Amino acid sequence: MKRYHLVTFGCQMNQHDSDRIRDVLEGSGYAPCETLEHADLVLLNTCSVREKAEQKLRSEVGRLGLLKRTRPDLVLAVAGCVAQQEGERLLRGLPQIDVVIGPDQAAALPRLLAEVEQGGLPQVRTEFDLHEPRFLPAAPRGRAKVSDFVTIMKGCDERCTFCVVPTTRGPERYRASEEIIAEVAARVAAGTREITLLGQTVDSYQDPLGKLPGGQRDEFSATRMGRLQRDETEFPSLLRALAERVPGLQRLRYTSPHPRHLTSALVAAHRELGVLARHVHMPVQSGSDRVLRRMARRYTVAEYRERVGALQRAVPGLTLSSDIIVGFPGETREDFALTLELVREVGFVSVFGFKYSPRPFTPALKLGDDVSEEEKSERLAQLFELSEGQRAAHLARLVGRTEQVLVEGPGERGGYTGRTERNEIVHLQAARDVTGKLVEVTIAEAFKHSLRGTPTDRALLAAEGESGSAGAAAPTAELEPRAATRRSGHRALPLLH
Ligand code: SF4
Repeated sequence: MKRYHLVTFGCQMNQHDSDRIRDVLEGSGYAPCETLEHADLVLLNTCSVREKAEQKLRSEVGRLGLLKRTRPDLVLAVAGCVAQQEGERLLRGLPQIDVVIGPDQAAALPRLLAEVEQGGLPQVRTEFDLHEPRFLPAAPRGRAKVSDFVTIMKGCDERCTFCVVPTTRGPERYRASEEIIAEVAARVAAGTREITLLGQTVDSYQDPLGKLPGGQRDEFSATRMGRLQRDETEFPSLLRALAERVPGLQRLRYTSPHPRHLTSALVAAHRELGVLARHVHMPVQSGSDRVLRRMARRYTVAEYRERVGALQRAVPGLTLSSDIIVGFPGETREDFALTLELVREVGFVSVFGFKYSPRPFTPALKLGDDVSEEEKSERLAQLFELSEGQRAAHLARLVGRTEQVLVEGPGERGGYTGRTERNEIVHLQAARDVTGKLVEVTIAEAFKHSLRGTPTDRALLAAEGESGSAGAAAPTAELEPRAATRRSGHRALPLLH
């Protein structure tokens, strides 16, 4: 049996695409291989959003080229956004590559690999599936993940000037609501407890078959962003349909939304649906209207504040995180000070901060890159100092409180790890396997990025046959560092918005 080794760069969408690529490969007779040295096929699923990811691809291909010299039958495939963006050009610059496929072409992979393996020329397939969009459902495999992703849309119709995604992922295409509900129901029946709906602008969702009610009046219509006065999306209706038709679903999240579609209907869904997690990642990018205009974000800081403020009022205790770019062309120190002010005012508990870097095929290229690297680093450090401080204060406030923790599995150094409904990571001890269980926990200690808690049910602490006292050793502060570096707040980079 042939064996494959898959390396994924980039965001959650890429992680999810890699899972579907695995399904396709394993469905066509490949077996996974932990080490690339022993694989017959090495596939790199690439990201072009950040400069470093592209550099990583080039150095990885160079390294694999050396391996190919000793093993000429090794097949090297490149998928994802760099593949889509560069297409045939990749083959000219990196002749070691045998197959190049865009994000919409995973299903074609076995056929393209067969061509190459039979001695054919390198294969390139990067068309978007514009007329018949395909959303590959997850193949059942082993034990269901406690928390899993379901794609509801792909592509992006926004034109943020810094972003290459509209080029690499194409225009927005939506998955039929019945298909989404069926996949969520199947996952839940198989044991999944939490679903994160995935899409580049997930809250712009509309049902292509028109099965969901939409077009509610948007109460934010007084602001420029809501000039349409109607909520043109059907995302809140999809959330309601999932809550109603998949009663076994314990938690529902989504990533990544665009603030333009944080409508009053979505706020109402958060207020009324208990299944929606009390945490939202709402990318803002900058706290300066001048910079937002240059980014073509299509909202103002006041509009962003109004909408997230409504969400915070509707759901007491809801936390927010965000993405912020520092050093965008033309960003002055005053602009950046406004960003810090917004971070403070909204009270983000987590910020994914990035230094601006010019990306090919993006409109911002013509704006230059006039903030020095040193200044960008300085601004990023200030941003992190502020956001880390806010995070630490938030985690410290949770000590002594009781939280419902959805346990995702064993921790790296014993015990178990789970998440609260606000997405904080909690380490806990239990004398029996509590994976997939919702465990009530009293928070005992706050670390830099996570918490330690004790189950309120003493029976969970007692080993079989014991009574009363805790049967499991208390976790130590040493739990934190490794766990935190791997998963600081989110499972992978959020989608860029
Ligand atoms: S940042 Fe997000 S919303 Fe903007 S173009 Fe990129 S994917 Fe679309």
